[in-house]
Order: sequence, then structure tokens, then C-alpha cells
Amino acid sequence: MPSPTILPEIRELTTPMVALRQHLHAHPELSYEEFETSRLVADKLRGWGYEVHHGLAGTGVVASLRKGRGNRVIGLRADMDALPILETSGLPYASRHDGKMHACGHDGHTAMLLAAGQCLAQSIDFDGTVRLIFQPAEEGHVGARKMIEDGLFQLFPCDAVFAMHNWPGLPVGKFGFLSGPFMASADTVTIGINGRGGHGAMPQDTVDPIVAAASLVMALQSVVARNLPPLEMGVVGVGSIHGGSSSSVVPTRVELAVTVRALKETTRELLLQRIEALAHAQAQAFGATAEVTVSANAFPVLYNHPRETALARAVALGWLGEEGLVADMQPMTCSEDFAFMLQARPGSYLIMGNGEGTAGGCLLHNPAYDFNDACLPYGASYWVKLVSAFLDPVD
Ligand SMILES: [Zn+2]
Ligand SMILES: [Zn+2]
Repeated sequence: MPSPTILPEIRELTTPMVALRQHLHAHPELSYEEFETSRLVADKLRGWGYEVHHGLAGTGVVASLRKGRGNRVIGLRADMDALPILETSGLPYASRHDGKMHACGHDGHTAMLLAAGQCLAQSIDFDGTVRLIFQPAEEGHVGARKMIEDGLFQLFPCDAVFAMHNWPGLPVGKFGFLSGPFMASADTVTIGINGRGGHGAMPQDTVDPIVAAASLVMALQSVVARNLPPLEMGVVGVGSIHGGSSSSVVPTRVELAVTVRALKETTRELLLQRIEALAHAQAQAFGATAEVTVSANAFPVLYNHPRETALARAVALGWLGEEGLVADMQPMTCSEDFAFMLQARPGSYLIMGNGEGTAGGCLLHNPAYDFNDACLPYGASYWVKLVSAFLDPVD
């Protein structure tokens, strides 16, 4: 029995939507290499009457469709890229490209937005312009920022922008909304500790960067514990440490990579300042020196605008009732590059349940993850309903 909550126009498109999703899953492409994916997306949208631009950030696609006489413009964004992961799902439509995998569900995001696009073009009346934004390189490669730098919102103005992500562990048919800071900033800090290498039996003639690095790792634990107000969220995590090759050699250099997360820009600045200060001070205490580099590919805090979030939430509430909403949505410590689009335009980012347990509960970025096809008609219906609310012909 199909769910009565699914839009009938989307229900009709569900079989091809599932087939397309599984095709995309079998043919994943990494960041900025979404050549076949973006060509497929652009061809379909052209066929449905959209005006299609292909090439922002290399493989980005922006498709516009106007109906009626209204001047309002809504932008909906889906990400298209896969991850460098070797898939272990064993599914019949598992990745055909070894070492590449749709382990974050961007295959599902793309399929849902396409189906919504088809439905909006063929079956739904609205008054204004819909822009469908298919973005490359969400996975740490700031494709959203690149599209904006390439003129996204100058070429294709939008009054508001929206995007969604599937969420494993949350039941299918549930949506989560939160106004204000929703996802954390993400910075990667690389620290090089330079000492003086030499014979492990004569440490007095060396400057040991391993001792300095070990001390720095412990000192970094004090940043969140001692420098942040206890009610503010922050993460400082040393995710990698490399140095040395033998017990009898003092190496010349040790390298650490640190992840830094925050839900406020002021917190983010404080964490970065303290990390840099401690790196230099700890290195100096042991006679070494430190080089500190903050990656340029950082993500800002994702901030959901109150008015647009209220609308996005009201659409789900009116459609599914309280049952369809996450009751007590909290901010998340992960990151998302749609944050760049929300710095440029008002809008909102939401999450949608991917299911629980064996049906959609596998973690994102896990080699056994699969987007749950049962979600597709929910996500596509939601997009159509959001557009209908934003571009209401009788408004
Ligand atoms: Zn991801
Ligand atoms: Zn993702």
C-alpha cells in the first residue's frame, strides 16, 4: 500500500526515481568530477522545459523555470558528489567504480530534486521562478563556495534557498528543522613541529619534536575545557599525528592535523587563536618551533534564517502533522557547505529521516551505507510542497 501522504503526482514518478537513484549509486563520481552525473541532470531538465546553465564550479547545473507573472524566486539545492570509499554493501547496484561510493546519499538528493523538478514542470501550478541548483564537491571541497564565486546568485538571483540531507537513524517520513545555528563550522589546522634530528642514544644533542608534539596534544585538551564558557559548544580533536620511523632515531619533524568545530564564529576564532598560541608555546618550551596552517577549505557555521525556517517547518507540519517533525531538534556538530549559500541568501537547511536499523540506519560515510529508496517520494513531495507554499499562485 503506498502511503496516502505522498503527492499523487510524485507517486507516479517513484519507479523511475528509484531506478535513477540506483543508477547514480552504481556510477559515483568524486568532487568536481561529476561529469556524467551533471550531464544526465542537465539533459533531463532541458527535456522538461527548464532553462539550463551548466558549468558553474565546473560541473554545477542551475535550471530555471518560470510560471505565471510573479517575481518571487526560490532556489532548491542538491549535492551530486560521491566519496573516495570502497563500497562493501554487496548491493546489486553497488558502485561500479572501485574506490568511489555514494556513501552520503547525494545520489538520493539528486534523484529527489530531479523528480520534484519534473513534477513542478509537468503537473503543478505556481507563480514565480523555481531554480534547481545541482552542486558539485560538497564533501570537503567547498563546491557551494565555488559556485557562488563563479557568480551563482548574480546570474541566478534567488529570494531564498533551501537544501536537505538524509539522516540515518531518523524514521522515514520525519523532517527536522531548527532556526539559527544548525551545523558547526569546520576548520582543519595542520601543525608542524620542527626539532633537530639525531641519534636516539644521544638525545642531548637533539631537539625532540615527538616530546613537544606529545605535550601539545595534551595541552590542546585544555582549550575546550578551560577557555570556552561551559555552555558553548566546541571540538578540538587531533585526528592524526605523524613523525619518526625508528626507536633509535630522533626525527626532525612531527605533523599533527587538528579538527576544530564551533557553533559561533566568535567561538571558532577563539579556538583557532588558542590552538596557534599553544602550538608555538609548547614547541618553544622544548626548544622546537611550530608552523601552524589553517586550511582555506573551511566551512562556516550553518545558520538557518528564522523566517525561511518557519515557512519550511510549516510546510512539513501542514502536510504530515506533528508526527512528521523531529520534536526537539538540536544543533549538530557536523558541517555542511550549504552554509556558504546561507551566508549569501536567506534560507534554511533541513534533515529528513533515512530510516532506522537495517532499513536506512547505517551511518553516513560508512562503506555499507545506502540511501533508503523509501525516502525518495517523501523528499520529492516535500520540495514540491515547499515551492507551492513559497510561490503560491493565489498569494
Ligand atoms: Zn558527506
Ligand atoms: Zn552529504
